[in-house]
Amino acid sequence: MELFRFEKLRPYQSQIINDIRTAISSGRSIIVSAPTGVGKTDAALSAALSVALESNRDIFFLTPKISQHKIAIDVLRGINQKFGLDVKFSDIVGKRNLCTNPDTNGIESESFYKECEKLVKNGKCPYYSAFKNLSGELPEEIIEASNRGHNALFDRCFKYGICAYEANAQIAKYSKVVIADYAHVLNPSIYNSFIRKIAHKLEGSIVIWDEAHNIIDLASRYSSTAISTSAIQNAEKELSKIGSNVDLGYLRFAIEKLAKSKLANIDEAFVEKEDMPLEIRENTGEIEKVLMEKGLEYIEKTKAKHTSLMHIAKFLELWGYSGESFVRIISKSGKRIVLSMVSLYPENIVKVFNEAHANIFMSATLNPLSMYKELFNLTDADAKQYGAPFPKSNKAIFIDGSITTKYESRSILEYKKIAQRISEIKASIPGNIAVFFPSFDVLNSTMRYLSNASVFVQRRSMGSIETERVLEDFRKSSDSMLLGVMGGSLSEGIDYPGNLLKGIVIVGVPLSKPSLETRARINYYDKRFNGKGLEYAYIAPAVVKGIQAAGRAIRSETDKAVIVFMDKRYKWRAYYNTIQGADVYSGDDYISKIREFWSRAQISVMPK
Ligand code: SF4
Repeated sequence: MELFRFEKLRPYQSQIINDIRTAISSGRSIIVSAPTGVGKTDAALSAALSVALESNRDIFFLTPKISQHKIAIDVLRGINQKFGLDVKFSDIVGKRNLCTNPDTNGIESESFYKECEKLVKNGKCPYYSAFKNLSGELPEEIIEASNRGHNALFDRCFKYGICAYEANAQIAKYSKVVIADYAHVLNPSIYNSFIRKIAHKLEGSIVIWDEAHNIIDLASRYSSTAISTSAIQNAEKELSKIGSNVDLGYLRFAIEKLAKSKLANIDEAFVEKEDMPLEIRENTGEIEKVLMEKGLEYIEKTKAKHTSLMHIAKFLELWGYSGESFVRIISKSGKRIVLSMVSLYPENIVKVFNEAHANIFMSATLNPLSMYKELFNLTDADAKQYGAPFPKSNKAIFIDGSITTKYESRSILEYKKIAQRISEIKASIPGNIAVFFPSFDVLNSTMRYLSNASVFVQRRSMGSIETERVLEDFRKSSDSMLLGVMGGSLSEGIDYPGNLLKGIVIVGVPLSKPSLETRARINYYDKRFNGKGLEYAYIAPAVVKGIQAAGRAIRSETDKAVIVFMDKRYKWRAYYNTIQGADVYSGDDYISKIREFWSRAQISVMPK
């Protein structure tokens, strides 16, 4: 039986469902690269659920962001409703998001977990005690709310005065489908406790990786860490506030001494594990324990939401890690010295992928497929590319080869030229456009020369709430410009429904800074992937960000939009090959072509 919630399948959906079924029924993983709008989540969950029910398996649906859980919830609710099923699922988010205790839930990162652990151990969290008093009998109202996602569950649990995290974990124990974040499975410091808590196993399960182009980058970040001399100074202040005589000066002194010897005429250098003084390395366990205790004391005494003490403790723990895929770097910026432990390639993903019965990797940007097979170490996996579901004529793509944002070509003149071109493009498009830059530096340098009045801007310092506010205001507008960066929250994993964007300009290629870390990653990939370091570790991640940002405009069959890739490098084969789904025009007179596109598009939507 095909468990599909809608009456009609979209183009390619039936093929995707069949391909996924064929692969996962035989225990093979599959890489699905299909453009936005195909309905990948519906297709993947439909196929996975059919196989999971037939062969008694569990499903993990994993996403890089919490906001992407909703679509999976909608699909599963739709299937249950249409087929009269009762497939249980749970929407798992980080513990802090589901902590109902108002005294604790504002505390940040590691400090929060330690505080929660202590309260539970000492029987001091009334919400945990109330949950335990239920003896596993959750009120029906809470179970029902969990079907609407974690926010609804939180509200109900708050009303009942019980810990929403514990309630959710209990629901997860008997769920067929666990919807969670990448971090739950790919962050080594979360994985074991998460799996234990929800009483599921990856082994034998079907794992769906949504927006799978993010896996390598995010998993590498979960295994990387850094401390700065300012963080140590903050930790010293925290110690003095609680009247502690624990001395951290030796750590700061050791890092400053290391910087002096390594950074005489340069800003960054590789260091070794052994460059940390022996007294620190030999006593890491003891130092870590003391810093954790003092961090907890600081939080409790001062009611602070954050402590640098625990962050330093965590850093020291990771410093001892070994392996070719890690490098240690010391760098300076002004007086600030940073010591980093960087994961170049997340080795743990290989184990995670192999444990699962089968993995389904899906995204609009998994090109070239062969590269992802290699990156995921799954050379036997099936890999399929599907076409665009919407008419080609709804989109016009242009490459402006007269522009570049290459580091050595950046100048006021170039920024003025970019701004002028953006203004011309805006003037040729009847509606909102979004412009995505490779970095905040290029965005800010260009913005001052833009002549258009109505501009909404993403700032480097913005948190998610402020960014959402900018978006909300922009959504009310019909003739404005949204400025953001590629790889940011406005250019990936976000929808602009109702043809809100009539044009997207991609300014430059968001390549990583040519830093020691970048070079180390390229070298490591060169060794691991047969000389393909530059392509896999440097060019591909940048192109993916550009293509992801460009994909924000067309989200339905009736949406029409112009996409301009503004950088001559997009004409190079490595970049050009990945721009697909429509004809690409790269002539100098493209502004007139944009006008032509819009006059044709407007005629086609005029009432007859
Ligand atoms: S037990 Fe639950 S409610 Fe209590 S502090 Fe921990 S997460 Fe929060």
